[in-house]
Amino acid sequence: MNFDEAEHITMLRETLRRFIEKELPRAEAQRLDRECDFSDETFAKLCELGVTGLTIPEEYGGLGIDVVAAVATIEELAKRGSSLCGPFIHCAFYGGLNMVENGSEAQKRELLPQLAEGKLLFAYGLSEPNVGGDLASVGVTARIEGDEVIVNGTKRWCTGAHKADYIYTLVRSGEADARYKNLSFVLVPTDVPGITIVNINHSGLRYSATTDVIFEDVRVPVENIVGGMERWNKGWPMLAGRALDVEKLEITAVALGIATAAVEDAWQYAQERRQFGRPICAHQAVRHDLVDARTKLEACRHMLYHAAWKANEGLDCSVESSMAKLFIADTGVEIVLKCQQVMGAYGCAEEYDMERYVRDITCMPIVGGSSKMQKNNIANRLGLPTR
Ligand SMILES: Cc1cc2nc3c(=O)[nH]c(=O)nc-3n(C[C@H](O)[C@H](O)[C@H](O)COP(=O)(O)OP(=O)(O)OC[C@H]3O[C@@H](n4cnc5c(N)ncnc54)[C@H](O)[C@@H]3O)c2cc1C
Repeated sequence: MNFDEAEHITMLRETLRRFIEKELPRAEAQRLDRECDFSDETFAKLCELGVTGLTIPEEYGGLGIDVVAAVATIEELAKRGSSLCGPFIHCAFYGGLNMVENGSEAQKRELLPQLAEGKLLFAYGLSEPNVGGDLASVGVTARIEGDEVIVNGTKRWCTGAHKADYIYTLVRSGEADARYKNLSFVLVPTDVPGITIVNINHSGLRYSATTDVIFEDVRVPVENIVGGMERWNKGWPMLAGRALDVEKLEITAVALGIATAAVEDAWQYAQERRQFGRPICAHQAVRHDLVDARTKLEACRHMLYHAAWKANEGLDCSVESSMAKLFIADTGVEIVLKCQQVMGAYGCAEEYDMERYVRDITCMPIVGGSSKMQKNNIANRLGLPTR
């Protein structure tokens, strides 16, 4: 087994670190977090590096699919908060990866080249006021009338809808009691009549407002059914398939990036802060906390990149990606809270990034399939009987 990182990924990390130091200083990341926004200009500059092409084959204008490099990109960006990794995910994963996996040939030809250049953002319209983990119960409806699809209902927690070009919308396209058999995905442009977007105040992952999106007789052409007419009512496999396995890696990479930044900051702080006549890192309890955090971080890193490697090789990584999401989200919370304690009161101050790491990391066991849902997935995938 070879655990060395590929040279092109090490070089990519170095490029991204230089980019972030220059284009997203700490104070700017803090300002954007307070304003719950990201900078379109900085994101456009990031896209000039070509990274949004990492989830798209060359024939559609991308760099060729490289899941490990895309995950490493998220990790590096997430170390400076969510304001660049957020839009990167909305473009390269919500858009690029989903279109590669599920789009019709016409959709791929039209959308993938733009996504590869970072010119389009997708928002995820899955959750609803009464639907969280149980996505097969969605109540937003879609029906076909002539050559149009008509969408009605409300999506909740639709992050970045204001800035997105399309909402990748999970809809109930037939009778509710058919559950898994009557679901479809529709690409709803955010500028069509009948859409109202309302902000929800929230504490973590503030790269963009998360929102309620209300659809009132919204009409889109049938060409916007993801995968084309033949995928109408076949949305469930698109949701639970390979794209979802890679989605789990994407949110997990955010957790790893945040936890890594917290350890780096606490490690540095503990060498500078002096109490009782020596740096606090010289007190054994603090040394042990820091080493515990770093050791757990290393375990997280191995889990994530093992799952990403399997995904990149086209191997089944369903169990590994769920385990990585579960372990790294939960362990990430432990790591960051421990690092916050190392920084004492300063770990709660707005002028330090630690308080943002805490707000962001505590979202991780909730979003993208909760930790309990991952446990259900793993038990089911491994065939553990329920009775
Ligand atoms: C900042 C933020 C951004 C978000 N962005 C988006 C977005 O862009 N698009 C989008 O669609 N959604 C988004 N979400 C929603 C997110 O994906 C959901 O929060 C998540 O799917 C869980 O749903 P829920 O919070 O409604 O919890 P629920 O599903 O109501 O669950 C509540 C609790 O019950 C537990 N639970 C539920 N069912 C089971 C079960 N069968 N077995 C064991 N335990 C169970 C859960 O683990 C959880 O602890 C976002 C959320 C946040 C906080």
